[in-house]
Amino acid sequence: ASTWAAVVAGPPDPILGVSEAFKADKDPRKINLGVGAYRDGNGKPYVLPSVKKAEEIVDGSKPDKEYLPITGLAEFTKNAALLAYGSESEPLKQGAVSITQSISGTGALRIGAAFLARHYPHAKVVYLPVPTWGNHIPIFQDSGLEVRGYRYFKKETVGLDFEGLKADLQAAPEHAIVLLHACAHNPTGIDPTEAQWAEISDIVKEKKLFPFFDMAYQGFASGNTVKDAFAVRHFISQGHQIALSQSFAKNMGLYGERVGAFSLTAADPEEKARVDSQLKIIIRPMYSNPPLHGARIANTILSTPELYTQWESEVKGMADRIISMREKLYNSLQNDLKTPGEWGHIKSQIGMFSFTGLTAPQTKVLAEKAHIYMTSNGRISMAGLNASNIDYFAESVDAAVR
Ligand code: PMP
Repeated sequence: ASTWAAVVAGPPDPILGVSEAFKADKDPRKINLGVGAYRDGNGKPYVLPSVKKAEEIVDGSKPDKEYLPITGLAEFTKNAALLAYGSESEPLKQGAVSITQSISGTGALRIGAAFLARHYPHAKVVYLPVPTWGNHIPIFQDSGLEVRGYRYFKKETVGLDFEGLKADLQAAPEHAIVLLHACAHNPTGIDPTEAQWAEISDIVKEKKLFPFFDMAYQGFASGNTVKDAFAVRHFISQGHQIALSQSFAKNMGLYGERVGAFSLTAADPEEKARVDSQLKIIIRPMYSNPPLHGARIANTILSTPELYTQWESEVKGMADRIISMREKLYNSLQNDLKTPGEWGHIKSQIGMFSFTGLTAPQTKVLAEKAHIYMTSNGRISMAGLNASNIDYFAESVDAAVR
């Protein structure tokens, strides 16, 4: 018998499975709203012009292909930290931020989870919002942490369950780890307000919780990288020590280049150096050192003032196009078609995704009857909508909910 005769087939990935069903559909009207990758106004993948320019600059410098150090391109991680924390951040000014390049946001989360599993001096329990990005759960579980949930989404209002969130964090054991989406919460598109973040910070402090921020969409939510960093910077200003995962997949469109960073704020440079040494010990047996190309591109953008300005406007362009699709979809459903229900959440939600409130059976009908694909929780990638397909989408949703 084969060595692997007893291996049972696992379930397909719930998000990537949607793309497969989409590919197999031959209808010309088909729309893929499953995967979270930006599409331009013509429904095509978008390589940012600032990224193309940065690539030319990198090529022109005739770079070698030597290994990076274990923690990656030092100039890149320095600039990534500046982007997230801001130049006025105390831990950065003190040289107390331990940071490493990572294999995009997923890799950053995985390094962070592994570090916590090995070095966190309290019970290794992490609270994730319900719902959260599906991959958070196995990332933390596979790293050896116990995963629990805190309330986040309120079905009745298709909004934030702020009372539930506060009650669950207050009821968590002292020193529990809490994962917070820094901006553009995936899958709901619902973020706390700045005042609500301040309250969350107070509870985290009072309960001695450890905040782990996942910032996969800096700039992508509002179009402004500073505004989207509010939660992270507020927590730092309140004296919290944090863990932070950063991804450049969305805001630079570098999805497949796998560019990210993981950082921890330490008490001082001496402690930071000890943390650095342990990050290296975690990373070395996982993948030795990270890939070069994407980090060079991101660093060129972050360190060249004209390119940085251009990139900021391109991020804003992506965010604005998504915001305009939200307005158009809201108007179609609420005002033009008078689709049963209240659709204001489509306009108030933020970032790549909208949690439409469509039920699993309705999403099935949309796939089978209208060739429109989304995850069964009713999440749609707003970036998949454009002037050519949004009317067809709105009419199909209208038909599905009536
Ligand atoms: N966190 C969240 C909340 C995400 O939505 C994503 C991407 N879907 C990631 C992390 C990581 O993505 P990547 O590894 O491509 O950077």
